[in-house]
Amino acid sequence: MSRLKIVVVGGGFGGLNAVASLRKCNVDITLIDRRNFHLFQPLLYQVATGGLSPANIASPLRSILSRQKNALVLLGEVTGFDIPNKQILIQETRVPFDILIVAAGSQTSYLGHPEWEKLAPGLKSIEDATEIRRRVLTAFETAEKLGDNNKYPSLMTFVIVGGGPTGVELAGAISELAHTTLRNDFRNINPEHTRIILVEGHEYLLPNMPVKLSENAKASLQKMKVEVLNKHRVQEIHSDHVLLENSLTHEKHRIDTNNIIWAAGVHGAPIGEKLAKDLGITLDRGGRIPVQNDCTIAGHPDIFVIGDLAAMTNEVGKPLPGVAQVAMQQGHYVAQKIRAKVDQKSFDPPFHYFDKGNMATIGRAKAVVDMHWIQFSGWFAWVAWLFVHITYLIQFQNRILVMSQWAWNYFTRNRSARLITGDAAQHPQLIAQLSEKTDPLADSQAKNQ
Ligand SMILES: Cc1cc2nc3c(=O)[nH]c(=O)nc-3n(C[C@H](O)[C@H](O)[C@H](O)COP(=O)(O)OP(=O)(O)OC[C@H]3O[C@@H](n4cnc5c(N)ncnc54)[C@H](O)[C@@H]3O)c2cc1C
Repeated sequence: MSRLKIVVVGGGFGGLNAVASLRKCNVDITLIDRRNFHLFQPLLYQVATGGLSPANIASPLRSILSRQKNALVLLGEVTGFDIPNKQILIQETRVPFDILIVAAGSQTSYLGHPEWEKLAPGLKSIEDATEIRRRVLTAFETAEKLGDNNKYPSLMTFVIVGGGPTGVELAGAISELAHTTLRNDFRNINPEHTRIILVEGHEYLLPNMPVKLSENAKASLQKMKVEVLNKHRVQEIHSDHVLLENSLTHEKHRIDTNNIIWAAGVHGAPIGEKLAKDLGITLDRGGRIPVQNDCTIAGHPDIFVIGDLAAMTNEVGKPLPGVAQVAMQQGHYVAQKIRAKVDQKSFDPPFHYFDKGNMATIGRAKAVVDMHWIQFSGWFAWVAWLFVHITYLIQFQNRILVMSQWAWNYFTRNRSARLITGDAAQHPQLIAQLSEKTDPLADSQAKNQ
């Protein structure tokens, strides 16, 4: 009998784990990704705030799988499916499969306001992270050029929308950057006057964590001069302000800012829509494909969907969260099913998610950890956070690089990856005002006399 052809779409946490778990299996695997690297998304906020470089948190898929002889890596964007003929499409190229695993992940969701994307970048890719880094650093540079940050407070006001782990981590890191790292770097402005505002619709930050940890996280952020606005929802986003509404009193609240970052949700990857259409199924509200308890699509025992793109509930009907642990465990489970099929054995247990807990870091040496049987926060939580994140970095080389970079950052309070890449002229209108109204060089020279 010829070997089964397994096609995996997406080399993220789910897809890569499925491929790696099939290492010793007598199958031919094709892993297709539109990027040539696996990305460790939990550390994107570090790239966005200059703590790490992109290469520290990304590993080439080809190099990860270089020793796995049954795996072929193809670079390309999957554009469609020919289900009757069991093929996937990369534009004109067709790749046949016996078993398909779709692990294409998710993308930032603007809750029905796609026009906000340009004004408030999300944090989902390396490009997003370097764009946020560019905007954050350029805001300080522009303020320095304008010469007086009291005149243009909106330039040094950062609004982060979404108080989940990503929003909390970003707010803490931007606070450290402004209040510590950049403290002595400018002459015309004082970065310590930066305002950082974290907006969350729920009553608590980190809504998936116990209230006690949410309160700890909020108190730690407030100590770091982050203003936390709970029970506020975004109504409008503009290039120079954001309009919020208090969800209890319906009072409106305008914040003048040139820097808005979106950390308020994700939606299934677009390729999921194509697959659902071809199979005549309906996506859930989060744009995810409903799957059965063995990760297959009903009526299609050879098509698995895993990770962020899959909508699955646990034994008590609760939706599984869109986190790396779910994707990795589903990847491993699907590989077990395929191995059993190859060995002509039965393997029928439903997928069971083993929830190891949640964690979020708030800044240098502070974090919150919920392992369900124990909850803790502070320095020990931060050490646990460090340990877990180093352990799960895919390549040994990245572990060493990240460990040494973090040790350097920890002791020097520096963030040495503070590079502005791309267009450095972020606020052209304000710069135009500068040339009319102020002479920053004269201001700074006068101060130094
Ligand atoms: C900023 C941030 C912080 C996070 N922090 C945590 C955390 O602390 N802990 C945690 O557990 N989870 C965290 N997550 C969530 C976690 O990263 C996701 O749940 C996980 O990545 C999902 O794995 P996946 O395999 O489904 O998708 P992904 O890891 O996103 O991988 C999807 C892959 O599919 C590829 N792809 C997509 N469409 C196509 C296509 N059409 N053709 C070819 N390839 C395609 C993509 O390039 C990508 O490589 C975080 C996410 C973000 C964005």
